[in-house]
Amino acid sequence: MSLIRLAYASEATFEATPVTTGVEPTVARILLTSRRNNARSNLVGGLYYGDGYFFQYLEGDEEDVRDTYGRIQKDDRHTNLITLIDEPLSAPTFKNWSMKYVPLSSDVQALLARHRMTRFEPHRFSAQQCEDMIDLIRQSSANQKLVNHDDAERGGVRMGDRPQAFSPALRYGLLAAGVCLLGALIYAGTLL
Ligand code: FAD
Repeated sequence: MSLIRLAYASEATFEATPVTTGVEPTVARILLTSRRNNARSNLVGGLYYGDGYFFQYLEGDEEDVRDTYGRIQKDDRHTNLITLIDEPLSAPTFKNWSMKYVPLSSDVQALLARHRMTRFEPHRFSAQQCEDMIDLIRQSSANQKLVNHDDAERGGVRMGDRPQAFSPALRYGLLAAGVCLLGALIYAGTLL
């Protein structure tokens, strides 16, 4: 088995849904599929999405990485793919996760500022900037700053939240109706 590592940059083709917390829904769907497939192929790495661009890092068995990258390249949810790294690897450098997701974070902003970049433009990353980004993905896991796939599965929902069957307005409406009904029953009880 020969190990390789691969990093690429791409541009999202979808209109991002603004989310204040959690994961953008299209990105969440991508993560869900990635988790399932990458865990099966023992691929590890990380995905970063920001300013309409993706940066993804993958490492694992060469055949699996190339199969996966072949599918990724055909995906119309992104375009303008540029391979930034494609080289042999002597030993795995990631542990425990099938595919990490790094949310827009102060760490990434600091990395961009350090390299005098005002926007996240991975297509313009130098070799050193790529390595810094991969390091950041690795370190973020140690600091627990990553959103994992289980959170991503919930599609834009805050970590730890459960999916809600009703909208907040409907929930409040139902609660108010329940309180009114209870009040009416108590009132009716006093009349008996
Ligand atoms: P399927 O079962 O065919 O599809 C899985 C889900 O994705 C389904 O719900 C399907 O509706 C949806 N889907 C698939 N293609 C599209 C599309 N073009 N538009 C909208 N919805 C779609 N896959 C990996 O396996 N590993 C990765 O690390 C990985 N990283 C990705 C990173 C990016 C930035 C993008 C855009 C895609 C990535 N993908 C990854 C997804 C990959 O491109 C393929 O969609 C996926 O591998 C197909 O696998 P499947 O046949 O098992 O999924």
